[in-house]
Amino acid sequence: MKYVSTREGKTGVTASQAIVRGIAPDGGLYVPETLPAIDEAFIRELCASDYRARAVKVLGLFLEEFSEAELKDIAAASYADNFDDAAIAPMVHLDGNTSVLELWHGPTSAFKDMALQIMPRLLTASLRKNGEKRTVSILVATSGDTGKAALEGFKDVPGTRIMVFYPRDGVSQIQKLQMATQEGENVNVVAVNGNFDDCQTGVKEIFGDSDFAAKLGERGFFLSSANSINWGRLVPQVVYYISAYCDLMNAGRISYGDEIDFCVPTGNFGNILAGWFAKRMGLPVRRFICASNDNNVLTDFLNTGVYDRNRPFYLTGSPSMDILVSSNLERLLYCVSRDAAFVADCMKKLSDTGRYEVPAEIMEVIRADFVGGFCTDAQSREEIARLWGEGYLMDTHTAVAGRVLADYREKTGSDTPCVIVSTASPFKFGGTVLEALGVVTNEQGPALMEELTAFTGVAAPKPLAALVGKPVRFEEWVEIPAMEDAVSRFLS
Ligand SMILES: *Cc1c(COP(=O)(O)O)cnc(C)c1O
Repeated sequence: MKYVSTREGKTGVTASQAIVRGIAPDGGLYVPETLPAIDEAFIRELCASDYRARAVKVLGLFLEEFSEAELKDIAAASYADNFDDAAIAPMVHLDGNTSVLELWHGPTSAFKDMALQIMPRLLTASLRKNGEKRTVSILVATSGDTGKAALEGFKDVPGTRIMVFYPRDGVSQIQKLQMATQEGENVNVVAVNGNFDDCQTGVKEIFGDSDFAAKLGERGFFLSSANSINWGRLVPQVVYYISAYCDLMNAGRISYGDEIDFCVPTGNFGNILAGWFAKRMGLPVRRFICASNDNNVLTDFLNTGVYDRNRPFYLTGSPSMDILVSSNLERLLYCVSRDAAFVADCMKKLSDTGRYEVPAEIMEVIRADFVGGFCTDAQSREEIARLWGEGYLMDTHTAVAGRVLADYREKTGSDTPCVIVSTASPFKFGGTVLEALGVVTNEQGPALMEELTAFTGVAAPKPLAALVGKPVRFEEWVEIPAMEDAVSRFLS
């Protein structure tokens, strides 16, 4: 199977090349030329397997250069006791037709772990397959969740180094502590005296500095990235959509062939897109409900066909969805239109004017599979309180999906079984969750987790609870122009 760029559409590369490159030379994203198909027999076989075996079967369809034995080793190392639930992606049933797929049982308590626990292994294997001898050095600019998940994924992986930049005053106390206490001999974490955009621009400039790349090359290093435009981060996410369907079958809640919906709290469109690939492969899904917070650029796009990022940017209680440019939408546009020139034109308009428009016939295909909805911070807090009233504690991002689903059902009368995709532990956003539950507190940082446990009786995930008293290893901060020097010192 070959992978093509969304902006060129012709020259194919192998899966391992797509993973090594991350982004295509023309700036496009890699997608499979054709999607593999799955059928009833495939799904029934997965029903009888655990998550690791499900991952081996699904990944095998996309990664032909990897042998089954190789994928078995990779899956066994990636989805093990680093997750605090043997099911890896367990499902909780709220009522007769609503279930929650919990994707936050990994080491950093956010769904990024589902991909970032396995992606470093796929990347290092891909480097070997392509004869790369240099040490890959991952640079990450993070606003919170991705940096920590990437650090945990790459920590002590042979042949890799990882360096994370975060805005000095732009992450939550828990997120800062998670990164500052990071373990591992190949990691580095540096705060930047600037905001997230400064970090991201700084990292992009380092990637673009060919003199610096040559200097690092002489030292045996080359730079790469671990963000969600890399196919190696998207493909592991296809697994849990198929796995969720199997779990519903195993629970006797659906029979094979019954169509279900997924409601996904969305930012960069990576999570939900992986689900859509599963549907296109043959998974019986009726529709994806794309849930946004006040940054509702995707809701408007799905309703009007106009993508327009020229709008106010809101800081919300679901910060991982505070995003106005959803990069992975580019993949959807290509897969639906199969027209690379059209996609390249849209992306050029997006970067020149912040806006593009998609023709009605393409929107019709997209709307057959996606419906958009959004809710405000106040509404997502109500949802946290409502579901806690029914005995289920959810985080601020998942609550956006919960609320959007409730509104959708009320509007359409739908009673189709729906899986709410839950993307973070409530303890990662303990302050807002406590507020939603009406608890007034002056506590800060890790103490908020103890307070949430005291109020709900629900235990915090072990890695988050373990932050209390953990030694801080990284306290360095730099000015924006000094970021490259910091990289140079780390890779010396
Ligand atoms: C990253 C993230 C999201 C958004 O996922 P996308 O793939 O960017 O759409 C939602 N919730 C949480 C908690 C996240 O960390």
